[in-house]
Amino acid sequence: MCRQLGWLGREVTVSSLMLDPPHSLRVQSYAPRRQKHGMINADGWGVGFFDGVTPRRWRSTAPLWADSSFESVAPALRTRCMVASVRSASAGMPIELGATAPFTDGQWLLAHNGTVDRTVLPRCVSAEPVCDSTILAAVLFERGLDALGETVAAVGAADRNARLNILAADGSRLLATTWGDTLSILRRDDGVVVASEPYDDDPRWEDVPDRHLVQVTADGVTLTALHSAKGS
Ligand code: GLN
Repeated sequence: MCRQLGWLGREVTVSSLMLDPPHSLRVQSYAPRRQKHGMINADGWGVGFFDGVTPRRWRSTAPLWADSSFESVAPALRTRCMVASVRSASAGMPIELGATAPFTDGQWLLAHNGTVDRTVLPRCVSAEPVCDSTILAAVLFERGLDALGETVAAVGAADRNARLNILAADGSRLLATTWGDTLSILRRDDGVVVASEPYDDDPRWEDVPDRHLVQVTADGVTLTALHSAKGS
């Protein structure tokens, strides 16, 4: 499954988060260290960040490791809040831009690491039916990200095989869930990184237990246990 990375903090370059670390998303696109499902994330990549309150995205269906244009421009892109991912498409899902995270409703940027049975998801008018993750994103946008934990627990109860690691940001908040895959947090002096796996061997990385909601704001980091609606 995919690998994701979010940032909330002081302004830093996109390359310092996505490309420069020894086990950055670029390296994770061909050699992830903790990925539970899939060996390689070659089916595209995306990054989104905020220009004031406006989300801006750069997405591609090509592998991140081969993108020399992004490598050239990323050191000039600066951000306080970012959501990025490299993709390994789930079986049967198309490799196209519409299926490539981050997704947006104009306010939030959101990525999904996992898979879900589309038939358990409620019908959603705004959903682009290209991929399980785009439909799930539309449901999460429609229910509101303040209810992220509840919605993930309800979808997880409806599909016991679902993996629902979500990463979302609105410019001042970073939210994430663990539901079936890995997630780690790095509290740096200049901000917080939330990532599917550590991008380096800094001993300050903390693993997030499964079935938790992570909330990052300027005030700090909160972890809350998620309970399945049916007690699973
Ligand atoms: N199911 C999503 C897709 O096909 C996400 C896959 C993933 O986490 N690797 O893109």
